[in-house]
Amino acid sequence: MPELPEVEALKDFLTEHLVGHEIVRVLPVAISVLKTYDPPLAALEGREVTAVHRYGKFLDLATDGGPHFVTHLARAGWLQWKDRLPDGPPRPGKGPLALRVALETGEGFDLTEAGTQKRLAVYVVHDPQEVPGVARLGPDPLADDFDEQSFAALLVRERRQIKGALRDQSLIAGVGNAYSDEILHAARMSPFKLAASLTPEETTRLYDALRTTLTEAVERSRGVAAGRLKAEKKSALRVHGRTGLPCPVCGDTIREVSFSDSSLQYCPTCQTGGKPLADRRMSRLLK
Ligand SMILES: [Zn+2]
Repeated sequence: MPELPEVEALKDFLTEHLVGHEIVRVLPVAISVLKTYDPPLAALEGREVTAVHRYGKFLDLATDGGPHFVTHLARAGWLQWKDRLPDGPPRPGKGPLALRVALETGEGFDLTEAGTQKRLAVYVVHDPQEVPGVARLGPDPLADDFDEQSFAALLVRERRQIKGALRDQSLIAGVGNAYSDEILHAARMSPFKLAASLTPEETTRLYDALRTTLTEAVERSRGVAAGRLKAEKKSALRVHGRTGLPCPVCGDTIREVSFSDSSLQYCPTCQTGGKPLADRRMSRLLK
């Protein structure tokens, strides 16, 4: 799933490739991706893209006098740039193609979504704040004014575990399952620690890990072509998705906790004083 760093890199990529160009055609292939009906998709046609913005994990294409095209790629969605779009209309029901945007140059992009859970979303709105997921977003962790004090103020009221708090888009915008694992590993902190229980020293450590992990990931992703971003993200992860492999910091075996629809990874030596966290699925299997 693309998170803040990858969406930021896509924003840069699209700024370079779209701004100043005219959208000639928007073709929905999977009808379920479109979450709004007024204005219609056709209102984007004939409009020039003037800017590309990122809000959390949302991308926003602003047009000259027309509506905004806002998209959330969700867990299995992706954007594929095409130097030359295929001739003829795309056929519905074939493969992962969800929506195609064509420019006057013959270039364009496809939004695709793998798997059966269809969560990729497209909104055509006059103002990005009309998108409920955008309106709900908490502060951007890379914003200049997001200092340690603002971070501490967010956590102090959180009676949840820190892993869940970091992933909550209405608390902090843009961090998902992968980068929350990476941030907690960098901060040497248990994912199950209660957010409100952090000491000032732990808050400082977590804040530094949040900013450093995301900044480094943005810098790595910058300039990487859209098609290579996923591989780039995966290659730099230290714990996320690496169950059973050695921790690159201490060599301990990376462990996993599974939930109904996701899992988290962590290093016991670096994060939990060497103790494995309870995994309900594993303990059930072992009974
Ligand atoms: Zn470790």
